[in-house]
Amino acid sequence: VTGTPAALAVREVTVRFAGLTALDAVSFTVEPGSVHAVIGPNGAGKSTTFNVLSGVYRATSGSVRLGTTELTGLAPHRIAALGVARTFQNLALPPYATVAESLMLGRHRLTRAGFVAAGLRLPSAAREARLHRDRVREIAGFIGLGEELEKPAGTLPYGKQKLVELGRALCMEPQVLLLDEPVAGMTADERRRVAAVVADVRDGLGISVVLVEHDMGVVMRLADAVTVLDFGRRIAGGTPAEVQNDPAVVQAYLGT
Ligand code: ADP
Ligand code: MG
Repeated sequence: VTGTPAALAVREVTVRFAGLTALDAVSFTVEPGSVHAVIGPNGAGKSTTFNVLSGVYRATSGSVRLGTTELTGLAPHRIAALGVARTFQNLALPPYATVAESLMLGRHRLTRAGFVAAGLRLPSAAREARLHRDRVREIAGFIGLGEELEKPAGTLPYGKQKLVELGRALCMEPQVLLLDEPVAGMTADERRRVAAVVADVRDGLGISVVLVEHDMGVVMRLADAVTVLDFGRRIAGGTPAEVQNDPAVVQAYLGT
């Protein structure tokens, strides 16, 4: 993370598929160092939002900016390099890839220019490799897998595999981390653990988190701000307490 933390501004984003408006002029701002949840019933446009932010889908109109940097229409790898990292579910990894190797994949995007921006001088490739390894170890500790660096990631329990994915995104040194339903399919214990790591990402690393999430308990506990979508429209926004008591939100969830 370099420089002053920047806000992620989503402005009037519309996404149309043949005959269907998946997002309709949606705007919200992810404040620096905050957890911003995007919630809504099935089909509301949550995954579409995630895909626009990460560059997988192109907005039909509207814009996405990180600080003064225009991200609209950029390819996923460019958006990642500019500081908005996402987790990858089902990324094809050889089953024997260790936790350390899996995390190291997140470092490959970081060029020497990235290190220069971070204020580090790099006299040699060996030194660069060592810095990457040190950082991987730090991040493994941060996600609570410091003792499991040499284990094959694929043999870990599901909750820990998800933490490896989160760690791999952190290895890209993002300003904003995009998480799509990070606790889906997890046990209560795993949910608590991932929620604690997400809170640490915000509070300890100062990284903003955009959380697309179904689990309202996790959203209410973690989020600083919530954007509520329904049928592709932003129907409410505010603190968790504000949106929870918003009649439009209650109605959307009851489906009446
Ligand atoms: P959510 O994640 O909130 O359940 P989605 O963003 O996945 O909702 O979907 C919003 C709407 O857009 C749905 O009606 C869905 O069927 C449609 N949609 C999403 N992706 C595509 C696509 N690639 N092609 C056509 N329609 C899509
Ligand atoms: Mg979805």
